[in-house]
Amino acid sequence: MAQSLWQRLIDKPTYDKLFYVPFWDCPYGCDFCCVDSLPGKPPSFPDSGEALLFNLVDELYKRHGNPIELHLYGGEPMMRRSYVEHLAQKVDAHPHIAQFFLYTTLRSGSPEGVFQTLGTEKLTIIVNPDTVNEKVEERLEQYKEVVKMYDNPVFFPTGRGAVGEEGNQPNLLQRILPIGLPGRSCFARSSGLLVNGQQGTVHLCCLPQSPIVGTFHDSAEKLLDRYEEALVDIPKQINKKARERGCVHPCQVCNSESGYKSTEGVGCNNFDLSAWGEIVAI
Ligand code: SF4
Ligand code: SF4
Repeated sequence: MAQSLWQRLIDKPTYDKLFYVPFWDCPYGCDFCCVDSLPGKPPSFPDSGEALLFNLVDELYKRHGNPIELHLYGGEPMMRRSYVEHLAQKVDAHPHIAQFFLYTTLRSGSPEGVFQTLGTEKLTIIVNPDTVNEKVEERLEQYKEVVKMYDNPVFFPTGRGAVGEEGNQPNLLQRILPIGLPGRSCFARSSGLLVNGQQGTVHLCCLPQSPIVGTFHDSAEKLLDRYEEALVDIPKQINKKARERGCVHPCQVCNSESGYKSTEGVGCNNFDLSAWGEIVAI
């Protein structure tokens, strides 16, 4: 945590994280959902990003030498428990992945298989506090060695959680901090590339509203070239745009520019890096 805060303060790229979302489907539909998941649908099976994901792990490690954190979220990834178990096996066998973060409600499937594979050293389970029920309380106790509650105080005005929607308001921190300080700044440099299975795209940060760096047709080398280049300027440009617009948080810029809605299906985010030339020139 202390290291993460320091990294956010100096705002240097960390090059140690990758995010993977095989699908956005989720049965719950929380009104603050910052990624705009697909509520009430059965899980879909767009696994075509998996090979690219592991190529990115290797290329990122080759270039920067940092052990990699792999973050799996959605949607509710545990709607396909067997797929998550399959990924856990690959993570366990991979020499450069130090930690596997599984974001789940703990309501859809038992993490026992994943826990047995990765154990306390390599697994962290991040649980959404808003979907905890009695059954989840039991699982929280059972897996307490690896469970953390999602307690990020930052409100992301993206997806269904966008400002203006009923019940979602920025916190005090985000109303008083100047844009550019941690908590009210584009955090792409301390985040990581998102491999978005549903849309076949790769994004600048963990959120699908962020600029598209490339697609599953691109090589890991090309994607990382574009990613490293983009991190030099784009976070500054987004912060600048957020100041000009009086945004609560810079992610609001990405949310409005991308028009991203997972519920509109494949290809709805055409917010690619080339668009930034015009946006920044305004
Ligand atoms: S916040 Fe999580 S549990 Fe809630 S709708 Fe979004 S993905 Fe589903
Ligand atoms: S401002 Fe955009 S690129 Fe930066 S962290 Fe938010 S969504 Fe990601």
